[in-house]
Amino acid sequence: VAAIRAAQLGAQVALIEERELGGTCLNRGCIPTKALLASANVYENLKEAERFGLTAKEIGLNWAKIYERKDQVVSQQTKGLGQLLKANKVEILNGRAQFSAPGTLMVTAPDGQKQEVKASKIIIATGSEAARPEFLKVDGVNIITSEEALNLKTQPQSLLIIGGGVVGCEFAGFFASLGTQVTMVEMLPQILPLEDPQVVRILAARFKKKGLTIYAGAKVEDIKVAEGQVISKLDNGQEIRTQKVLVSIGRKLNSDNCGLDKAGVAVENNAVVINKRMETNVPGHYAIGDVTGKILLAHTASSQGQVAAANALGGRQEMDYGLIPNCIYTWPEIASVGFSEDEAKNEGYEIKVGRFNFGANGKAQAIGETEGFVKIVAEAPSDEILGVQIVGPHATDLMAEAVLALKARVKARELGDLIHAHPTLSEAIMEAAHDVHGISIHKMPGLVK
Ligand SMILES: Cc1cc2nc3c(=O)[nH]c(=O)nc-3n(C[C@H](O)[C@H](O)[C@H](O)COP(=O)(O)OP(=O)(O)OC[C@H]3O[C@@H](n4cnc5c(N)ncnc54)[C@H](O)[C@@H]3O)c2cc1C
Repeated sequence: VAAIRAAQLGAQVALIEERELGGTCLNRGCIPTKALLASANVYENLKEAERFGLTAKEIGLNWAKIYERKDQVVSQQTKGLGQLLKANKVEILNGRAQFSAPGTLMVTAPDGQKQEVKASKIIIATGSEAARPEFLKVDGVNIITSEEALNLKTQPQSLLIIGGGVVGCEFAGFFASLGTQVTMVEMLPQILPLEDPQVVRILAARFKKKGLTIYAGAKVEDIKVAEGQVISKLDNGQEIRTQKVLVSIGRKLNSDNCGLDKAGVAVENNAVVINKRMETNVPGHYAIGDVTGKILLAHTASSQGQVAAANALGGRQEMDYGLIPNCIYTWPEIASVGFSEDEAKNEGYEIKVGRFNFGANGKAQAIGETEGFVKIVAEAPSDEILGVQIVGPHATDLMAEAVLALKARVKARELGDLIHAHPTLSEAIMEAAHDVHGISIHKMPGLVK
């Protein structure tokens, strides 16, 4: 993203990449996981065919084909990205970049050939990789990370997921939907610790329905592989035996693989230190994405990339981290932006809350996905929207309207009065906004906020 934006602004751009174009997101993150989840979703829908008056017999799954389809989606995207970069005249250098001095990099190609590259402006975007803490003994076969989970040749019969964050929950949904016996351990009191507890309760209930077991507030104390099984001991005394264990406890930032010290770029807690303009402490050197340790999401990285490119070419843009939507592609989907009810209270805001359940939304009923709700947190005196949480069908796509509302500082009453097409899931946003003032048309009076 940064390379294309810099090229659009007239710079001569080289992009150094040692693996595949598209980084984690395209090859080992956002896109492959969503392709796998799409297969699981179709499978779930087929099993529910009768509910829609249809007959689907002998519903089966072909693990290899599910993964093959995922690979095709990824390969289509990487090819497209290569073409896009070429069309924007971005020179791609395949190899590992290492700083030798500020403004100077040595690029080592896979065949060992070295090439020195000098640039007046450099954007560091080395990203992150799955954390593999020693005590969890990741071996890539029995005890794996998301990277190996995206390349499994056969379906595990049973799986323990360590870490109930976004990645853990998305994989939990995928494996459980296709029939793997899934157990999840989360150290904090709830899975998805950063999300509104009301929202998480809906997902946890759905997980339970799928047969998933969750141990929240528990830690893995010991782990070993024996007799072809992984035996994990929790600090609550529980012993869990599974075919595989997926470790998804966070990311290790790649701040140590390109010689940042040689350039004098400051790093703190493994993250490259940047200001709001993406500038590091070294003039002309910018950093973006996961390696900056801010909000580890692809759209954060993309937005930072556009800010950095603009600033490298004479602009003075600043990044606004308050407007970054957080999306979780489970069933039901979860999406949020801005403050949750608790966060707003902790920040000292006087708030009003509106809530509307998808159960009362015509479109949700028509498509048979009535679980979940939209919640809107508004500041009481000004009526300005401080945050929106959605759990339910297409929550991640619906979120764009909420982001716009926050960006444009729309008042709850204005959002409620905005005409929304009928029947659409987005009407739930309109109704939740009106509910802030207790005037939601389709909500039973007295229902919970
Ligand atoms: C399983 C999973 C699912 C995810 N799903 C989502 C999602 O749905 N939505 C979302 O927003 N985010 C998601 N993410 C997060 C998202 O993938 C990252 O936030 C995003 O990829 C960060 O982009 P980046 O450019 O900073 O780093 P990366 O994508 O990690 O890219 C860094 C690139 O730099 C290269 N590199 C590193 N060091 C060097 C070097 N010295 N020389 C040359 N090349 C180097 C690497 O090979 C890599 O290609 C997911 C992550 C995972 C793991």
